[in-house]
Amino acid sequence: MKFVLIGSGLAGGLLAAYLGRRGYDVDLYERRADPREGNIVGGRSINLAISTRGIHALEQIGIADEALQHAIPMRGRMIHDKSGALHFTPYDVDPKKCINSIGRAALNTTVIEAAQRYSNVRVHFNHKCTDIDLEAPTAHLETEDAKVTGHGDAVIGVDGAFSAVRKSMQLKIANFQYDESYLAHGYKELTIPPGPDGSWRMEKNALHIWPRKSFMMIALPNPDGSFTCTLFWEFEGLRSFATTQSDDDVRRFFDEEFPDAVPLMPTLLEDFRENPTGSLVTVRCAPWFYRDKVCLLGDAAHAVVPFYGQGMNAAFEDCVVLDECLEKFPDNRQRAFSEYFSRRKENADALADLAIGNFIEMRDKTASKTFRAKKKLDHLLEAALPGTYLPLYTMVTFTRIPYAQAAQRARLQDRIVYAALIATVIIIVSLLIISSHAE
Ligand SMILES: Cc1cc2nc3c(=O)[nH]c(=O)nc-3n(C[C@H](O)[C@H](O)[C@H](O)COP(=O)(O)OP(=O)(O)OC[C@H]3O[C@@H](n4cnc5c(N)ncnc54)[C@H](O)[C@@H]3O)c2cc1C
Repeated sequence: MKFVLIGSGLAGGLLAAYLGRRGYDVDLYERRADPREGNIVGGRSINLAISTRGIHALEQIGIADEALQHAIPMRGRMIHDKSGALHFTPYDVDPKKCINSIGRAALNTTVIEAAQRYSNVRVHFNHKCTDIDLEAPTAHLETEDAKVTGHGDAVIGVDGAFSAVRKSMQLKIANFQYDESYLAHGYKELTIPPGPDGSWRMEKNALHIWPRKSFMMIALPNPDGSFTCTLFWEFEGLRSFATTQSDDDVRRFFDEEFPDAVPLMPTLLEDFRENPTGSLVTVRCAPWFYRDKVCLLGDAAHAVVPFYGQGMNAAFEDCVVLDECLEKFPDNRQRAFSEYFSRRKENADALADLAIGNFIEMRDKTASKTFRAKKKLDHLLEAALPGTYLPLYTMVTFTRIPYAQAAQRARLQDRIVYAALIATVIIIVSLLIISSHAE
């Protein structure tokens, strides 16, 4: 059986490795040049946070150690307030539980090389897919000087949030459901270079956040001593990307909002001018497959905004689930695709909601004392009721509990905790009233 994969991004490379291991023939087509030829993965984040789900998917194919060798553990959030004061909130009651900052380009290379270890996997760079013939199924591709077709028993679109494969499904499948929604915020990447001795100029083992209510900046550490900062800010408005364009405006905005970061950012003005402003999209669609011929995976099926640090983790989890489904139905690809879709769809939808919710938490609530108190209470309850009470962040980030189940369980836990708090307050007040009457 032969699969044609479109897109050798993070999930495409990993999926090719899984399919290659299962003995399938795989032709993987990527519109960009080989990342090992110094081609920068343009327009996307330089580093990402990988956690339990993503690591599990790498472990299953035996490349977790290789991929994580240069990753930097981040044990919690380091909040920077406007005065420059710092507050650290650990991610979990167990200090060993951390998320890991990993370079996108290096991870991409690792998964592609893992795929290429299987002689039945072939990777073709500089091949842009323009259209899919769903019935054949065939991918139509363009190179610099030729038109090419990729034939297989099935085509899998792993071509990201703006998927060409999904677009073909949208055009050709009656009743294909499609919804995309953009945040009013965009993002821009900026740099904090290493110190003169190559060391990190802020706490290395933390995800840094400058929460400013309607917008925020974050920074993740890189192995070379630098940090990649990402400013999430409104595209339009009184103070926004649109109205802040001159060097003076940019400087003033940063001096007002991120005064402790400015001295660490010597290339701020150049970075701000030269780096693109990205948009943030949530994509929901259904179904993710067409008969036994075409399937979608990763961002192509369910792009989410990046605020839970789970887009790639979820895409890697898709690879594990699709592999399990192909194992379960080796002679019935349509059932395999169908089961993969039904196992993943509600979870992708739940993650999309969680990711938007976490934007509000990161940019606004992390700055508040109530938020820090709630996190402490979460950790107390988790320690007091091990295995029974699990904070939402812990379930999403440090377990493989399906996202929809995690969200549902967190809602139930919250209701019980709030009811218990209200009951406690009522009991205390009643006891006070009784004792005052007794006197
Ligand atoms: C700012 C930002 C920060 C993020 N941070 C995190 C994080 O911390 N943790 C996390 O888990 N996730 C994070 N994500 C999400 C993560 O980047 C995506 O979920 C992940 O990259 C999805 O992998 P993918 O392989 O599905 O898509 P992609 O990585 O986008 O790969 C798609 C590939 O398909 C190729 N392609 C596209 N169109 C075609 C075509 N027509 N023909 C041929 N090839 C094509 C592209 O060149 C690319 O190589 C972040 C996203 C953003 C934008």
